[in-house]
Amino acid sequence: METVFDILKQTRKDNCGKCGYPTCMAFAAAVHTGGCPKSACPFIEGASDEVRKPMIDPDTALARQLKEKVKEIDLSDRAEGLGGWVVETEYGQVLCLRYLGRDVFISSKKVFAEDGSELETRDQILLYNYLFFGGKGDLSGDWVGLESFPNSISKVVTLKRYTEDKIASHFSGRAGELLSACKEIGGVEVKECSADVCVTIPVLPKVLVRINFWDEDREDGFPAEVKALFDRRALDFLDIESLIFCAERLAETIIGE
Ligand code: SF4
Repeated sequence: METVFDILKQTRKDNCGKCGYPTCMAFAAAVHTGGCPKSACPFIEGASDEVRKPMIDPDTALARQLKEKVKEIDLSDRAEGLGGWVVETEYGQVLCLRYLGRDVFISSKKVFAEDGSELETRDQILLYNYLFFGGKGDLSGDWVGLESFPNSISKVVTLKRYTEDKIASHFSGRAGELLSACKEIGGVEVKECSADVCVTIPVLPKVLVRINFWDEDREDGFPAEVKALFDRRALDFLDIESLIFCAERLAETIIGE
């Protein structure tokens, strides 16, 4: 049987959404669990016209399938590697994690915040992916751009558009506000850096994003710029599409969307 990664490799890997899923990884996971035909991606060789329609509410269907898979996992076994901890709740054993500055709780029944409200479906899918990756080992402490990862060319554009350019234009001329917004969700300032603001933000315990921000220079007419960096071992903890989603969610959170 093909693995999720075997299926992922056959897609165009640019998260175009034509299959009805937000990311190629989400699509591959849905195909793997039998929730979607492989031919729903028109870029996989042999796709037929008949199945090129988007699925109805595909995120919800996928989240439901992932919940089923959680039942097969020993959460206490995974907790330490993922940087989380386990508690007993009315939903049974639950894995707790810090996600963008707040505690979230993952179980086979729901993924919820401290006040009991269910997280958005796309966040649930991300957290389940993080859980299934299993969090093996430690981070390297070396920071690299997305372009350092294999097969990332098309994704660099997505990262720039939805994370780097978005943060740069929102915080242009407001470097101090950017730093405060990052610190509010656990960001730690890096002093020895040539950027105007350099801050490391834990999106998840083992998924950190470093934001380097150079403010606009009105005199010389240079706009603000941002470069997002990831730990060299980031792909041991999440797939590349989920990493980009982490960065997008980070941008939305600090901007307050
Ligand atoms: S899997 Fe979906 S998102 Fe990825 S290339 Fe195919 S249609 Fe586009």
